[in-house]
Amino acid sequence: MTTRGRIAGWLGRGLRRPHLLVKFGATSLLLFVGLGSVLGQVLQASTEARILDSALREAQVVARLGVQAGLTPDEVDDGLTDSRVDALERAFLVNLSALDILEVRIWNRDGRVLFAGDRTAIGTGQGGSANLRRALEGGATAVISDVRDATDPFLRRQAVVLEAFTPLQFGSGPNVPAEGVIAVTLPYEPVAAAINGDTRRLYAVLAVALAVLWAVLFRFVASASAALRRQSEANQHQALHDQLTGLPNRSLFADRLDQAVAAAGRSGDRFAVMLMDLDRFKEVNDTLGHQHGDVLLAKVAERLRDTLRSGDTVARLGGDEFAFLLPAIGHDVDIDVVAAKIRDALERPFEILGLPLEIGASLGAAVFPDHATSGITLVQKADVAMYAAKREHRGFAVYDAADDRHSRDRLALAGELRGAIDRGELVVHYQPKVSLASGRVTGAEALVRWDHPVHGRIDPDVFVPIAERSDLIGSLTEFVLDTALRDCRRWNRMGAPVGVAVNLSVRNLHSGGLVEGVARLLAHHGVPPGRLTLEITETMIATNPLRAREAVCDLRALGVRLSIDDFGTGYSSLAMLRSMPVNELKIDRSFVADFGPSGDAEAIVGFSNELGHRLGLAVVAEGVEDADTAAALARLGCDLAQGYWYSRPVPFEAFVDRLATIGRAADRDRVTEAAQL
Ligand code: C2E
Ligand code: CA
Ligand code: CA
Repeated sequence: MTTRGRIAGWLGRGLRRPHLLVKFGATSLLLFVGLGSVLGQVLQASTEARILDSALREAQVVARLGVQAGLTPDEVDDGLTDSRVDALERAFLVNLSALDILEVRIWNRDGRVLFAGDRTAIGTGQGGSANLRRALEGGATAVISDVRDATDPFLRRQAVVLEAFTPLQFGSGPNVPAEGVIAVTLPYEPVAAAINGDTRRLYAVLAVALAVLWAVLFRFVASASAALRRQSEANQHQALHDQLTGLPNRSLFADRLDQAVAAAGRSGDRFAVMLMDLDRFKEVNDTLGHQHGDVLLAKVAERLRDTLRSGDTVARLGGDEFAFLLPAIGHDVDIDVVAAKIRDALERPFEILGLPLEIGASLGAAVFPDHATSGITLVQKADVAMYAAKREHRGFAVYDAADDRHSRDRLALAGELRGAIDRGELVVHYQPKVSLASGRVTGAEALVRWDHPVHGRIDPDVFVPIAERSDLIGSLTEFVLDTALRDCRRWNRMGAPVGVAVNLSVRNLHSGGLVEGVARLLAHHGVPPGRLTLEITETMIATNPLRAREAVCDLRALGVRLSIDDFGTGYSSLAMLRSMPVNELKIDRSFVADFGPSGDAEAIVGFSNELGHRLGLAVVAEGVEDADTAAALARLGCDLAQGYWYSRPVPFEAFVDRLATIGRAADRDRVTEAAQL
């Protein structure tokens, strides 16, 4: 990611998410404030009502006990004498002022004033009105009145008062009629102060409670949202990364590739896509099991990560296929250098189950915009290049348009191979194994070919790996075994006591039924088991010695011979070789081809020969292409030779001819040698 991209990503993470939380916080705060004010108003109203109610009750008590108690029903009917008014006034002055009562007024049933602080009002029909009427009907009421215009200066000073109207009733019971009304006037200020105090307290408590509630809710939502965010980030990571290796997966790679295409399209930069396929992964996976295959992939991923620059992308596309996005190509990095770096990184053997495993890799690259201008085609071209590298054993190739045809063919071949066996397009050729001592043919290696109706002859190097990748390898091996044993029986009947060797694939060795299949075919063709040699590669043994040993022992028990093919290219230890009940060791043709008086190859061949003999094995040198090599091998004491010098692999009829000619040539040589002596 570029610095700018990283900053944008960081900003996005920092701002986008909290933005939601801030929105939630503000909205919920607003709601809480609204809720608080509604609740406050409701509670305030009820507080007000409660305080007024208690003031009214107080006034009623005063009216009943303090005022009404001093009156008789007759007085109420007839009106009060002046002396009674005086007496009442005195009594009220003493008692009621102590209770903070401002004024007492009394009306009779007709609404005539019986008693009032303002003496001139007595005897008139003043004051009261609606409240008076309600009280006469039996209901007590309280009103808050503005008295700033009152005639009484003492009252006027109060500004606002609370007037409580209480029915004047003699006797008790629900239906006692009111004989008059007592109004008690109280100062409103203490009531208002009580209301204000309570309201303030109420609002304070409400505000604190709601604030705490909001804070708790906010915290809860914030932590839930953080957990969700983490979860979603983890999900996103999981969706875009390969679980096994932690590398970006196919879809993240495709995404980055699209971005790279868009960016390079704008800037005119070049970049490369590289695909990589491990060469021997299938073998490891099949012999050691998926679990160890997975460990190997994780180790490969680790080395790849350490090798590339931070700006490059390494992804695992699936299986043993990896992809690289190399943005700096063309500026300061050469694509060959990167490929070499990757191959170097994988060169060191990987240790699995204590075994050093050598995992080769084939790499193919395509460059934007030289080879393609879209992500998909770039990958396709890199894939074509990778297969070209594999096919030509080059390790690395940059896309070349000429490789396209091969690639189409390869895909088509995979589909056609199944039918090819049934249609009889596969044929088996035989290459003689010649005794270096006698010059006679003692055996033959069966090598399969595909005579394709359109493409012509296809080499096993091309289609055997395809069969190994699918489940076709079982049928292919069975076909070769069947054909080789039938042909072996035929040349045996012709009088040639020559055996046949068949190559096994690692999949054969570890899939069930191999031993039974071999036994059945031997019996079917009536070939003695000792005439059949099965060739297994050193790598097949090295990757899972225990299982290989088991299979080898079972096959040995049948009486079949076993041979270690391509010796020198793998990693078998001496101990392992010794524990394996095999009969033959075939020195790989790469050493035999380089065979000469000086150099490593001679040492390797000499050593392998020595080793084989020490272990009691027959030693075969394959790839013998000239007389000098054959003579040198004979001097070394090598037992058998195989190679173009004697014969290329040939069809059955030609092989039968070779049996005679090679034998005759040997006899002739012996005759000339004898004559020369
Ligand atoms: P291999 O088992 O090492 O077989 C020997 C290969 O060396 C054969 O190639 C043979 O044609 C070639 N060869 C023989 N003499 C010489 C020589 O003097 N010089 C050179 N340069 N090469 C020589 P071929 O037939 O193309 O087979 C290639 C590989 O394909 C075999 O290597 C074997 O691994 C595999 N293969 C062939 N047939 C079968 C089969 O029936 N089953 C399985 N599983 N693999 C097979
Ligand atoms: Ca072989
Ligand atoms: Ca070989």
